[in-house]
Amino acid sequence: MATSGGSNVVRNGTHNYRSSLKPDRPLSANSNPKNHVKSKPLSSTGQRRNSTGTIGGSSAASKDDAGVPGRVRVAVRLRPRNAEEMVADADYADCVELQPELKRLKLRKHNWDSETYEFDEVLTEFASQKRVYEVVARPVVESVLDGYNGTIMAYGQTGTGKTYTLGRLGEEDTAARGIMVRAMEDILAVVSLETDSVSVSYLQLYMETIQDLLDPANDNISIVEDPKTGDVSLPGAKLVEIRDQQSFVELLRLGEAHRFAANTKLNTESSRSHAILMVHVKRSVKGRDSGLSNENGNHSHMIKSLKPPVVQKGKLVVVDLAGSERIDKSGSEGHTLEEAKSINLSLSALGKCINALAENSAHVPFRDSKLTRLLRDSFGGTARTSLVITIGPSPRHRGETASTIMFGQRAMKVENMVKLKEEFDYKSLSRTLDIQLDRLSMEHERQQKAFEDEIERLSREAKRQISEAEKQYGDALEKERLKYQKDYLESVKKLEEQMVMMQRKNENSHPTSNGELSAEEAADLKIMLQKETLSRKAAEEEVNSLKIQFTELKKSEASGKLEILKLHKKLEDEAREKEKLQGEIAILQSQLLQLSIEADESRRQLGRPGSAKDASGPDSLTSQVKQQQPSGNGEKASIAKLFEQVGLQRILSLLEAEDADVRIHAVKVVANLAAEETNQEKIVEAGGLKSLLMLLKSSQDEIIHRVAAGAIANLAMNETNQELIMAQGGISLLSMAASNAEDPQTLRMVAGAIANLCGNDKLQTKLRGEGGIKALLGMIRCRHPDVHAQIARGIANFAKCESRASTQGIKTGRSFLIEDGALPWIVQSANNEASSIRRHIELALCHLAQHEVNAKEMITGGALWELVRISRDCSREDIRTLAHRTLVGSPTFQAEMRRLKIVL
Ligand code: ADP
Ligand code: MG
Repeated sequence: MATSGGSNVVRNGTHNYRSSLKPDRPLSANSNPKNHVKSKPLSSTGQRRNSTGTIGGSSAASKDDAGVPGRVRVAVRLRPRNAEEMVADADYADCVELQPELKRLKLRKHNWDSETYEFDEVLTEFASQKRVYEVVARPVVESVLDGYNGTIMAYGQTGTGKTYTLGRLGEEDTAARGIMVRAMEDILAVVSLETDSVSVSYLQLYMETIQDLLDPANDNISIVEDPKTGDVSLPGAKLVEIRDQQSFVELLRLGEAHRFAANTKLNTESSRSHAILMVHVKRSVKGRDSGLSNENGNHSHMIKSLKPPVVQKGKLVVVDLAGSERIDKSGSEGHTLEEAKSINLSLSALGKCINALAENSAHVPFRDSKLTRLLRDSFGGTARTSLVITIGPSPRHRGETASTIMFGQRAMKVENMVKLKEEFDYKSLSRTLDIQLDRLSMEHERQQKAFEDEIERLSREAKRQISEAEKQYGDALEKERLKYQKDYLESVKKLEEQMVMMQRKNENSHPTSNGELSAEEAADLKIMLQKETLSRKAAEEEVNSLKIQFTELKKSEASGKLEILKLHKKLEDEAREKEKLQGEIAILQSQLLQLSIEADESRRQLGRPGSAKDASGPDSLTSQVKQQQPSGNGEKASIAKLFEQVGLQRILSLLEAEDADVRIHAVKVVANLAAEETNQEKIVEAGGLKSLLMLLKSSQDEIIHRVAAGAIANLAMNETNQELIMAQGGISLLSMAASNAEDPQTLRMVAGAIANLCGNDKLQTKLRGEGGIKALLGMIRCRHPDVHAQIARGIANFAKCESRASTQGIKTGRSFLIEDGALPWIVQSANNEASSIRRHIELALCHLAQHEVNAKEMITGGALWELVRISRDCSREDIRTLAHRTLVGSPTFQAEMRRLKIVL
């Protein structure tokens, strides 16, 4: 692509977005409030463009003064076949073929020929609305929140999905929400409604007349440009302050109802007008430094406190453009010609401005149409602009599709079309994974929403039931209480009356009986007493039954709580399910990563036939990855991006996955990453080394052993890691792997790892003590020369370190190599035809021979003959000299040579 790095800018934008949506994020220096250049008009000499002239430039260049890259970023989105096309085009292939992994689109010319175009993003018919939002709109929304202006536009033939992409409200299906709704959601999530404001106008541009979609009576709005700042405004348009998402959706619906739509043959919902949504975001910015804070503390403090509060303004313009098709084809009637001219005026003026901006031309004809005048302060230059071009699959509209693609290409300023020759067989796999990923995340979004709604409904219902029951029982209890109180008072009253009556009776009829009761009266009283006792009992029973009822009520309340607990549990299950889904997504992503790496590798191998064959060291993994051809950089960046997306921690956690395939996959990814020096430290830090060693121990799978050992071999090239490997029992694990493995490639990796450890001076004793040498020698049983080469390298490394230690007096006594029985194989391999084996063994022999303690054993083992041969015939002069010097310097060897009459 001519403007290299352009696509990176989109990726970076997407990536950075997350952190910058946090409300309390630190503000970067280059998003400084009012003093940035946003408010200046883009002068007609184009002087605000960066000096290289490429609008995108490299990401560094594009970060210049204003901090917002200027090139229009272009994504292409393919609409799926609709019902009519399924039938009508059943026998024909789509007119385009997408290669999203390469960000390329092939436009079929004939059956046997096609042209390939590159875009910043290629969105297949399976791309979810969420993904489209993230790649097309998010970076723009982000910069609007940073106080810049930004534009998102959809361009394409009627019926290809412009409105679907931008304007879907998605009320019936959350996953279907379009860019406008999602953008507002993100904006509202970041702004604080106490200090900031978000307001919206919604307009329609039709036949060079601007109408207010929020107030249809307002049908000729004029554009005002501030000659000083270049800011464009529409004083006549209704501006509605937005405080919540729901009212925004209502507003869009209202606007849509007003939108003029002329029917055409192509699509009954088609539109001849441009719909323009403008979102003004005003944010007050606290605690910003003016750059003076670096000076003397007091002074800067004073200046800061005198500073007026800063308001940061950004404007987001979302344009759903009129259909790009040639009018004569659409078959509309009436004032079509007039209309055609007007529509073409704004669209073609837009095209001209895009061309002029792309070519860095001195004059940008913004004044030529209402649309371009309206966009003047939010388009190109320092504003961030995203264009999504929408196309349909039907070969019948190939012409329109081609012209849409060319429009997008011009917007990207691609001068040379990339003609593609090679094909990659991983292409379809990667696409399938992408589709799966999209489908899963869509499904997940939908399920989550439905589930949250259900939980909310259930808990509302439960609360309502509980409070109703409580109220009912409270009322009943109170009623009962009142009733008994009343009864009680009444019976007390009655008793008092009877008492008074009786007293009176007593006084009247038995004045002489000294107040004693007659038997009759006593019987009456007794009966009354019994009655009272009975009624008290009844009351007591009543109270008891009320108590029971109350306990039952409590019980039912408890069961309500139980219900809530159950719901909570369900919620937890759902959360677990969600985690599982996310895990699956991570697995898919890691598989994608692995595929990319493999693809990258196979491409490299294609480019350099045979280059992998002579890679014999354990560093072959490294070298394979390092053999990057210049053209591989793009893919490497995408691998790095994927790596970043999946996250090392995730990949490492997959090493312990239950599914064996996933484990194998993950370990391959880690091995590939470990081949890069830059990743090694990160891997070790994140516990990757430990996990790899664990795999050697716990897994029975030979492939896992092979790949894990390869990764360990790569990590073992660095001294710190060598110590860590030893400290974590690596040598015994590697020894175990060595004795279990049968496959030569596994043995090569294991031997390579041990050979690397053999080269560390500090680890000699431990390595030998834990059976490292024996393990190395055990692998001789495999006759593969690659394995022997690694064993020889290990022995040479060990002999060298040992020799150094003996010279320094740290080591005494015979060589551990001799003690562990390595000599026969050393002697036998000293003349091996494979130079990679021979060379190492020759060096090892020289190192051993330098110490008199080893000489006797070496003579009996036949090593003297080999040393003599080396000193005479070795093709490498340095080794030859070393052997010669060693023989001459050793009294024992000298004596034996005299005995055998050998002359050097
Ligand atoms: P435009 O605005 O470009 O005229 P629309 O957005 O109205 O096109 O889309 C035309 C038809 O195609 C609509 O019925 C819409 O639902 C459908 N459609 C468009 N894009 C997609 C898509 N990506 N997936 C499914 N249906 C789509
Ligand atoms: Mg439309």
